Amino acid sequence: MMRKATYNGSLAGGRSYLAIPGPSVVPDRVLNAMHAASPNIYAGALVEMSETLLPDLKRIARTRHNAAIYIANGHGAWEAAFANILAPGDGVLALITGRFGHGWADMAAQLGADVTRMDFGRASPIDPARVEQALRADTERRIKVVVATHVDTSTSALSDLPAIRAAMDAAGHPALLVADCIASFGCDRFEMDAWGVDIAVTASQKGLMMPPGLAFVFFSDKAAEARRGLARVSPYWDWTLRAAPDQFYQYFFGTAPTQHLYGLRAALDMILDEGTEAVWARHDRLARAIWAAGEVWADGGALRLNIADPAHRSRAVTALSLPTPKASDLRAWLEAEAGVTLGIGLGMAESDDPAWHGYFRIGHMGHVNAHMVLGALGSIEAGMIALDIPHGPGGLSAAARVIAG
Ligand SMILES: *Cc1c(COP(=O)(O)O)cnc(C)c1O
Repeated sequence: MMRKATYNGSLAGGRSYLAIPGPSVVPDRVLNAMHAASPNIYAGALVEMSETLLPDLKRIARTRHNAAIYIANGHGAWEAAFANILAPGDGVLALITGRFGHGWADMAAQLGADVTRMDFGRASPIDPARVEQALRADTERRIKVVVATHVDTSTSALSDLPAIRAAMDAAGHPALLVADCIASFGCDRFEMDAWGVDIAVTASQKGLMMPPGLAFVFFSDKAAEARRGLARVSPYWDWTLRAAPDQFYQYFFGTAPTQHLYGLRAALDMILDEGTEAVWARHDRLARAIWAAGEVWADGGALRLNIADPAHRSRAVTALSLPTPKASDLRAWLEAEAGVTLGIGLGMAESDDPAWHGYFRIGHMGHVNAHMVLGALGSIEAGMIALDIPHGPGGLSAAARVIAG
């Protein structure tokens, strides 16, 4: 690693900061809640507490419909959604804005669906006009499901879900709108019912501030109807009893994820105590601070924000680029010298391509505040100075002005 002649030792001691787009920082309140003896899973406090989880998850998703919990990561949430609505041969229109959109489309294809990919590239949101056109052209109504990634974590592109719903309605198409909200949930505004989303999936380790291990699927009554139309559903992924159990074990189709549920309860309390509007506003302001720094650094420098238009940027994650291999150098410097771990540049280039070392991401999802974001940005600025990466001066001050309000 390159070092200045004046190098005096690492400043990475103290609490480290994992600023990657999931898993995110787990608050002490969540960790402490999880530090509990294994509870009785047949009756008592855990069973009673668990009844409060689905209603509060639905409040945060802004839905009056249904919710199911799975012991799984985000990929499990993906499969859970598809298992309940797709039969082999069903038509899927996959709207793709990055690596995760491709991954979900791959899964649909592996499950035997007839997948049409509409790829918007690595730096643009979904274009609702193209969606409307494709749906109008589907005169035989072969498309059963439209899948969209709300925030593609690889590119940090934010998609306009209400505009996609409007395009579907304008085409008069009956397909279900199914959204991957794994990165955006609890960070970017999301209103499932008002936006006409039929299924939304998320997972515990991003805006929900938990360790990985829990997945969530929210589904409308229309989606539940589609489930009832399937000849066969994989029993583990079937959402029917999970969403409306007669007995406690049916929430999880087996043993409850005991300590995870304590952590989830604490995380939901934190979000609801702060208020979802306030949580979204906090993520908005912190994201704008990051964008302000990035734009100043870009001016006359080598750094670029991947998504040019702020209207299409996520408030959970920001993807950036530097001339290769400076992004990898910067990540290594920050971890070794400043105790900050940044995200790799996922999906922008293959890992054996030299261009891979030209991308990085900042995760700013969940349990983040002003000093964490300013600390990460100040460390990035220090790293660019240490590594002689050209950048416009004053990025950190630009961020501070956003934080100052
Ligand atoms: C993180 C993420 C996933 C995958 O989640 P895993 O827990 O890694 O399986 C899928 N989609 C999006 C948008 C994500 O951010």
